[in-house]
Amino acid sequence: MRMIRILFLVVSILFSSSNALTQDFCVADVKAVDTPAGYPCKNPAHVTAEDFVFDGLKMSGNTTNIISAAVTPAFVAQFPGLNGLGLSMARLDLAPKGVIPFHTHPGASEILVVLRGAITAGFVSSANSVYVKTLRKGEVMVFPQGLLHFQLNTGKSHANAFVSFNSPNPGLQILDFALFANNLPSSLVGATTFLDLAQIKKLKGVLGGSG
Ligand code: MN
Repeated sequence: MRMIRILFLVVSILFSSSNALTQDFCVADVKAVDTPAGYPCKNPAHVTAEDFVFDGLKMSGNTTNIISAAVTPAFVAQFPGLNGLGLSMARLDLAPKGVIPFHTHPGASEILVVLRGAITAGFVSSANSVYVKTLRKGEVMVFPQGLLHFQLNTGKSHANAFVSFNSPNPGLQILDFALFANNLPSSLVGATTFLDLAQIKKLKGVLGGSG
């Protein structure tokens, strides 16, 4: 009986100490710097319901731009309550022929659900296999972490989708922006991509690159 009591005591101490190490949440202190481990926590005494609510996805994004599309993120920088929880969202709006060009999220896989219209989406694997599908309302597609992928409105009307990521900060790197929207010299872009100089200069002009 005494052994059982001691055992119970040990177990309850173990449980209470492990509980002491866990926190319900760590709302981002977005004034600090984000790190691979996330933002530092805002003082819990100052946390309110507003920290766990984000209303930025209810409005359609502005699609009057070069891609005729908009990505509205609900990542940790916009939505501090996500910090440390391993997930986030975004809203995609695509006018007819609008496109979210080839891009990757270095930090997360993505799952997309179409709410309106028809979206042709696809990704390319590390083995360069292509996986493409046209999705309609209620249909879902997943894009594995780090792989290049795209979404294109192939319907006749406005298309809209919500995406979710398994990181509060999935990152977003757009292939054409990486190649043509910065000051990487055109000669180096040509040498590393095998594209014609004239095409490189044209795309740098369109996307705001130089060099
Ligand atoms: Mn994506």
